[in-house]
This record gives sequence, structure tokens and C-alpha cells, in this order.
Amino acid sequence: MTYGFRATALTGIALSACVLVSACSSGNGESIGSSEQSDALPVVANFYPIEWLVQEIGKESVSVVGLTPTGAEPHDLSLDPKSITALEGAKAVFYLGSDFQPDVQRAVDQLPEDIAVSDLLTSPGVTLLDAPGDLGKESLTGNKDPHVWLDPSQMQAMAVEVAAVLGSIDPARAEQFDSNAKELIRKLQSVDDELRGKLKDCEVTTIVTSHAAFNYLAQRYGLTQIAIAGVSKDEQPDPATLEEIARDAKAAGVRTVFFEEQLSPELSETVASEIGANVDLLAALEFDPEEAIGPGQDYISVMKDNAQRLSRGLGCVD
Ligand SMILES: [Zn+2]
Repeated sequence: MTYGFRATALTGIALSACVLVSACSSGNGESIGSSEQSDALPVVANFYPIEWLVQEIGKESVSVVGLTPTGAEPHDLSLDPKSITALEGAKAVFYLGSDFQPDVQRAVDQLPEDIAVSDLLTSPGVTLLDAPGDLGKESLTGNKDPHVWLDPSQMQAMAVEVAAVLGSIDPARAEQFDSNAKELIRKLQSVDDELRGKLKDCEVTTIVTSHAAFNYLAQRYGLTQIAIAGVSKDEQPDPATLEEIARDAKAAGVRTVFFEEQLSPELSETVASEIGANVDLLAALEFDPEEAIGPGQDYISVMKDNAQRLSRGLGCVD
């Protein structure tokens, strides 16, 4: 537990620095954030999909700082002192619990009560699935799968919660947050409709993925996920498990094995070549798509692209 102790000590140091420097809470969040608006609420979000959600609802009224640096893998994130400072200077913090990012969880548990801290996995309307446990260690609290953002209907539920929390700390703009959330919910609905439409009639209903990120998407659209690695990407399969995955994929008629951007496609390629399948990209959105894929990309465009690739890879009737 050396790791936990270190994080706690770090938070302690950052806290004492804040006591000594009185301007701490008002200045630091903005210096990291992108917004120049002086009356923007300093808000922290744990990683890309939640940053996007908060930005779309808060628009120019929030200054969002993300905790997961560009290109970093979010599951095993370890917070740097800059992130701790941003957390302490925030008016609201949005994150996903269930041990998705244990370091984030430890840090938010120590924040003072006047900061609105929201674990979006507990939002009304968010229904959690069990973490798939057949690929080695089951480390998540209660074994819940944190990848809710890959189901647009769960994003809708989280959008309502984000608007409610922002409205509670800034009642004067509550109506604006609500109306932004409604607009976002409409966009998410169109993504949901598109996925449903594209995936309603497919020759193959099994998706083979790099890591177990797509269970919510699979469940929503009548698919079954076979994941090469576990919920966290460091849960790598042994050769016998890999062999079993290839056998199951072949039995399910899989012709495309999906891999994720910024992850090594090696294991996906191994499975694909074993069963004579192609490989294609499927984005789990754990990285900022502007950085990972290209400019102008966001949650909506990437999910629409996912719908296209899934439809093609599964031989769906459009
Ligand atoms: Zn993941």
C-alpha cells in the first residue's frame, strides 16, 4: 500500500500549500483550464467523455480541467500535483467511481465538503453492469463495469445529473445548463438511433475488442462482447486464453476483430490471423479523439464512426 500512502501524502502537501497561499483556490484552476472567462466556474472532470459532457452543458460558463493527460491511459492514472491543485480549486468535480481510477477516488474523498463532488456512475438512470470477471483479476469495487459512456442512453442520464449539479452551485445559470443539457440529450438520442438502426440486422452479433470496454454498447444493441484484455488493459490473456478467444470468435462467425486507437493492435492481429479475419478500429473514447484521431472529432462524431465500422464489420443490413 505504499502507493496509497504516497497519494495521501501528496494531497497533504498540496493542501498545506493552499493554506499558506490564500489565492490558491481562485487562481490555479484557471491557469490550467482553457477558458479566459473570469466568471467561469472552475470544474474538474476525470477524463475525456466526462470533460466533453461537462463542457457541452456548461459551455462558456465553465472552465473544465481534465485529470487524464492527453495520450495517457485512464485506468491506471496517477494524479500529479497540478491535478490535485485543480481539484482543490474546483467548485464541482465530476468523475466515475467503481475503482475506474483509484487515485482519483482517493483524492476526491479528501476534498472539503463545499466542493460539489459527483460520481456520475451513481446518477439516477445509470444502470451498472457487472464487470466481466472471466479474464483474471476482479479488482473493481463490487465488480461493476465503469465503461458506461459507450452507451449514449447512459450519457443522457449523466447529462441530466451534470446540469443539476452545475445548476445547484450556480442557480442564476441553472436554466441555461438545463437547456444545454436538453440540446445535448437530443444529439445523444440521434447517435443512439443511428447505432440502433445500423446494428438491428447483422450477420454476426459478436464483437471482439481489445479490452472489455464495450459491454454497455453490446448490451444496448443486442451484441455480445468477447474482450481480449480485461476491463483494465493490463489484464493480458495468457496463450491458452488467447487460443480460447480465437476459438469462440471463430464459432461466432467473427470476420472483423476490433482494436482501439493508441493501443498496440498486436493481440487483435494475432486473433484475427488465427481465424482469418480482418482488423478494424473501434474507439472506446478513453483518449481525447482530437488528439487520437484528428481535429474536429468529439464524442458524437466518434460514436457515429463506431456505428459505421461496427455495421461494416458485423455484416449488418443498412
Ligand atoms: Zn477501459
